[in-house]
Amino acid sequence: MNVLVVNAGSSSLKYQLFDTASGQVKAKGLCERIGIGGRIIHKVPGKEDYVADLEMKNHSDATKILVQTLTDKKLGCISDMSEIGAVGHRVVHGGPYFSGSVLVNDDVVEKLQLCRDLAPLHTGPSLMGIKGCTDAMPNTPQVLVFDTAFHQTMPEEAYFYPIAYEYYEKYHIRRYGFHGTSHRYVTGEMLKLLDKPAEDTKIVTCHLGNGSSISAVKGGKVIDTTMGFTPLDGVEMGTRCGTIDPAIVSFLMEKENMTPAQMNEFLNKKCGFLGVSGVSSDCRDITAAMEAGNHRAALAFKILGYQIKKYIGSYAAAMGGLDGIVFTAGIGENTHQIRSLACKGLEFLGVELDEEVNANVPRPIGTTLLSKKDAPVKVYLIPTNEELMIAKDTAEIVSAM
Ligand code: ADP
Repeated sequence: MNVLVVNAGSSSLKYQLFDTASGQVKAKGLCERIGIGGRIIHKVPGKEDYVADLEMKNHSDATKILVQTLTDKKLGCISDMSEIGAVGHRVVHGGPYFSGSVLVNDDVVEKLQLCRDLAPLHTGPSLMGIKGCTDAMPNTPQVLVFDTAFHQTMPEEAYFYPIAYEYYEKYHIRRYGFHGTSHRYVTGEMLKLLDKPAEDTKIVTCHLGNGSSISAVKGGKVIDTTMGFTPLDGVEMGTRCGTIDPAIVSFLMEKENMTPAQMNEFLNKKCGFLGVSGVSSDCRDITAAMEAGNHRAALAFKILGYQIKKYIGSYAAAMGGLDGIVFTAGIGENTHQIRSLACKGLEFLGVELDEEVNANVPRPIGTTLLSKKDAPVKVYLIPTNEELMIAKDTAEIVSAM
């Protein structure tokens, strides 16, 4: 089945067309500047990239244009819109309402509306993406795949913040967790590699990218994760602070005369690698500056390594053991120094990285065993593939209709 995977942002819409039988990407691209102009950047393997400025007043226009491009004789890769079997949407926040991927219907859209408060920046674009596809392809089934869904198995002692209970009831304030589609994908791959029945496995999955999160996955189910009510919680990130003493927030607001919106912007955009190093939010720049002797870049780097190690240790305690660790996403796949730092000192848990292998992972990067062959804990690099996971979920749900 051909599945169109859509990731809608406030003024953009990223897409990939998958043949789910082979896992092959037939086309991918981006509609950007939606509402303020419009541009499509479209790529088909074996063809020249196509870039065009075309008016996109809203996500509906963008979807129509991308479908026209996909079916265009010269630029496209399918002959007719009917060849798109289904659309799969990436949705950031499913709140307490969605614990798995779902087929779009009125009830689902209504529940998604209720998530607006929880993720105001993301839910609006997702709803626009769904509407855009409904307008452009009224008869094509659509499926929603949530970043929060895989984490819905956490027990309440893990997801509950110790604040007044009434605010949990009133505003649904709790840990939700994000990057769930990535954690689920690498968990699935890791379970195939471990020599144990899935229900007996205890693994820690480290999704380290611009945004980073770490999950404890016991018996294939998440029991804890570092991101929380929002994707600001957890480890240090490119520009996000991660977990800090909450009293710092009101202290700084008073001292620096900041509004809640300014504080939110500060914590999300000006902290993390960028804030600590003053160099960049990008791990490549941090590594280069660190190697050139920049102390603040080295500090930013060491903080992340230390925090990952702390979470691995605490999650091993939470699970009562550890069989494996997975590193994935931009930093997890590419930055061997962070993997090394995160694992150093965990020998007492049975974690022993083969430093030679870790530092020399061949490119293009594929699944690689990084731990010593006889080490009790298997450490793997597994490249993530959230889009493929979305396409597979979508095909499965639509095939069962
Ligand atoms: P996002 O959270 O935006 O999806 P990514 O998973 O692409 O982010 O991760 C971005 C981070 O990964 C950046 O800090 C970047 O430095 C790092 N990264 C990405 N690709 C590479 C690479 N080829 N080599 C080194 N670092 C990389």
